[in-house]
Amino acid sequence: MRISVIGTGYVGTVSAACFAELGHEVICVDIDNEKIRQINAGVPPIYEDGLEELLKKYAGRRLCATSDYAQAVRGSDVSFICVGTPSDASGNIDLSIVRSASKSLGTALGKKKGYHVVVVKSTVVPETTEKVVLPIIEQHSGKKRGEFGIAMNPEFLREGKAVHDFMHPDKIVVGGMDDRSADTVSKLYNGIDCDIIRTDLRTAEMIKYANNAFLATKISFANEIGNICKALGIDTYTVMDAIGRDSRIGRAFLNCGAGFGGSCFPKDVRALIGKAQEAGYAPLMLRSVMEVNESQPLRIIELLREKLGDIKDKRIAVLGLAFKNDTDDIRESRAIPVIRELLNRKASVAAYDPLANGNMRKIFGSVDYFNSPEDALRGADACLVMTEWDEFRNLGIEFDAMARRLVIDGRHVINAKGIEYTGLCW
Ligand code: NAD
Repeated sequence: MRISVIGTGYVGTVSAACFAELGHEVICVDIDNEKIRQINAGVPPIYEDGLEELLKKYAGRRLCATSDYAQAVRGSDVSFICVGTPSDASGNIDLSIVRSASKSLGTALGKKKGYHVVVVKSTVVPETTEKVVLPIIEQHSGKKRGEFGIAMNPEFLREGKAVHDFMHPDKIVVGGMDDRSADTVSKLYNGIDCDIIRTDLRTAEMIKYANNAFLATKISFANEIGNICKALGIDTYTVMDAIGRDSRIGRAFLNCGAGFGGSCFPKDVRALIGKAQEAGYAPLMLRSVMEVNESQPLRIIELLREKLGDIKDKRIAVLGLAFKNDTDDIRESRAIPVIRELLNRKASVAAYDPLANGNMRKIFGSVDYFNSPEDALRGADACLVMTEWDEFRNLGIEFDAMARRLVIDGRHVINAKGIEYTGLCW
């Protein structure tokens, strides 16, 4: 089939490349001309394992990019909306980009003959597809629902494993306004070995939020137990390994540490809190999930102060800036509040990340960035570990370059001997 993908960020680019791999013809649309140029040249605008190979294979063949909505809609049967859905100033979902993309899609659809399905893949709070996207498409296309289709197809991929997750999903959820819309979208996934869960639009939207909120809850739960374990001298990882063997619980997402970040969990939990409140319900547990997550990284600063006293003018090495390993994405990274607090307290910060130095430099220009852990550690009074990069597991002699070999590990990754080691909650 012919597909257009609106918004070529993490979800859009990966979906476009993977749909091409499944044999579809794909046109990407973005307002960012640099991304369009990169995709047409077969260069991924973001780092994702396996993405470059797919773009190189299909760019200029069955994958291309444009800023022209009319061309993309004319040349496709299905359009996926994959634009960002950030938080607004009060933490609620900001749908302005979805509105703007829907308006452009609607206008383009008005000039097209024949049936077309608009699919929302962006994460949007329940009712958005029905009450926001659908009316905007109707208004700007001059067409009525049924003349075109509407579906909601949430994305569950993990950054860092996005291509793998798209091609090998645990579940595919397709919410349809009607059977014709849902059948069209379901067929696009032929070739992927996974059952499709068919729902209505708002249920599909809610599945994505419930999924992320549950995983975020597991992390905050593990961190809360971890904080209690730390106070009582109990190894929380032994506790988590044991409870994780209970098949009703499972071991995943119970790694205690500095908390969750990224472009999804924090904003999605906040958006669900906002939507629940709008619906007249006070989501007490979800609020606590966020509170634990916000206080968790600052516990590292408390531990640092216990060890060093005043941190003014101390040299602090921060290893790991990305919100998790295998990505250059720093959105809501737990390293951000930690670095901010270090700078507020007038410490000097030396940072290293294998992929994310460039992105963090845009936020903190006064930090010294290095290309190796050893260079960042040289002369430091303490080291804070903020991302679970595999390469940190093998660090050892690199710590010898420090003025004091004090390591506070926020991710349970350091195995070195002969250092002054403190775990965040173990
Ligand atoms: P992103 O910010 O990386 O990418 C969004 C893209 O949309 C950008 O390239 C931007 O230039 C483009 N854009 C903005 N306005 C546009 C417009 N009017 N027309 C066309 N393009 C426009 O976002 P992302 O991380 O890919 O997330 C997209 C959606 O998918 C969000 O709702 C997010 O919550 C959801 N999601 C993200 C992930 C993830 O791991 N990143 C996983 C699952 C779901």
